[in-house]
Order: sequence, then C-alpha cells, then structure tokens
Amino acid sequence: MPYLGAHFSISDGFLKMFETADSIKCSAVQIFAKNQRRWESKSLAKGEIDDFKKGFRSSNVKYVNIHASYLLNLATKDEEIFQKSINNLSDDLKRAEELKIEDVVFHPGNHLGEGEEFGIRRVAQALDIIFENVGYGNILLETTAGQGSSIGYRFEHLRDIIAKVKKQERVFVCYDTCHTFEAGYDIREKDSYEKTFEDFDRIIGLKKLKLFHLNDSKFDKGLKKDRHEFIGKGFLGLKSFELILKDRRFKKHPMVLEVPGNVKDYERDLKILYSML
Ligand SMILES: [Zn+2]
Repeated sequence: MPYLGAHFSISDGFLKMFETADSIKCSAVQIFAKNQRRWESKSLAKGEIDDFKKGFRSSNVKYVNIHASYLLNLATKDEEIFQKSINNLSDDLKRAEELKIEDVVFHPGNHLGEGEEFGIRRVAQALDIIFENVGYGNILLETTAGQGSSIGYRFEHLRDIIAKVKKQERVFVCYDTCHTFEAGYDIREKDSYEKTFEDFDRIIGLKKLKLFHLNDSKFDKGLKKDRHEFIGKGFLGLKSFELILKDRRFKKHPMVLEVPGNVKDYERDLKILYSML
C-alpha cells in the first residue's frame, strides 16, 4: 500500500505536527522546514531537531519530505536571485540532513524570457553547486503546470535537467497530479493513464519517480493553471486517483495531498483515497 498523507504546517512544532498527522492516519508527511515566504530563516534549534526525531519515531508516519520555498528561482538569469535561491535550497538540504529527511522537493523555476534551454541549463548548474554545498540528501524536481515561463511542464525538461547534473543519483522527480494534467498529460482513463506513465518511463524512467503530490485540478486539462482542488471535486475526478493508487508500480510510493483547506479537508480526502485501496 502506498504511504498516504498531506502537507502540514510546523508552526505549532514538530510534536504537534506528528500528532495531527497520526490523528488522520497519515503515513507520509510533507513540510516546509522554515518560513517558505522569506529568504532568511533562523536555523533549527537543537530542541526542534530532537522533537522532530522523537515525534517521527513515535508516530505512524513512515516518510517525510521537505518542500522548498516558493521564492526560489533557479532558472533565472538574475545573479542575485540565482545566488539567493541556491543558498536557500542548500539551507533546506542542510535542514534535511539535521532531521535525517532524504528528500527536498522544489519547482524548477521560470526562465523569464531567456528560453527553456537556458532555464534548464541554469537549474542543472545550480544543482551542481547545491550538491557541492551539502553532501547529503536528494533533490526532487516537481512537474509543473507550465504557467508563465516556468520549466518542468514537459517530461523532456526534467530529463534534460537530470542529464546535465553531475550527481544524477541525487536527483529524482515528484509527480504532481494537478500540474501534469494542467500541462496536458491525461490520466483520467486507463488508456491515457498508461500512455502518460509509458511516456514518463521512456523519457525520464520510472526509477526516478519518488513522490506524488495528489491534487485534483480546478481547471480542465492543458490550461496550464496551477490551482489545486479537493480529491474528486475537480477535472481529474476520482478515477485518476484510483488508477494511481492501484498501480502496483507505485505500491511503496509516498503520496501527499496539497489540497486547499484544513486538517478536516485532508481527513475527508484521505478517507476517499483509503477507500480505494
Ligand atoms: Zn505540488
């Protein structure tokens, strides 16, 4: 059975976070390891690190990943933003090391008119520096919806970034169901579902797929809008999620909700997902 869970706030501390996750039967959790809307955050205190380890050990959660800041843009030409983004993502990898979390997910970024090839090269260049900075952990490239000048909305973009990175063994992919659908990949019927994952396997390789973000989509296929919806309430519909959950290739994968709303909404959506298994 896949590890199911959701994105949680850590504003009330790690112990509380694990307690809440347990209360709605999560076995996977995603967190921001700091304030995701600020460039600078103070380091984790020893007490926080201890709380994390204690909470993790005593909970039923089996997998935790960090989601990087929304401010990042590793695809930009702007040197200042590029450097700040590198420092910020390196810092998350450092926090991952302190907490013994393996994976940090981020959105590849926006080329802002420089072209996709430029953006792809830039991200790979940044990852090389980040892996030099911190010798621990993996970076997961998240599939994007293709809004604005973002890269990562074609499987080929992710393949090309990985191919250009020196430490390829430390780069994986996070498949966001809303984003990929918005980027034009269909998974609503068995045939289109198989085709999409055949494409993923041929272009990137399923071995690189490490995490799912399970979100329904407020908009119809291919519109390149990044707007998450509750499970079964959007254009993807229940069947898309059932196909993923029942896919034996993903039976050990972590899958986390990033739907809008609060813990009650997570609980309801998780119940829907568990009922499919
Ligand atoms: Zn996502």
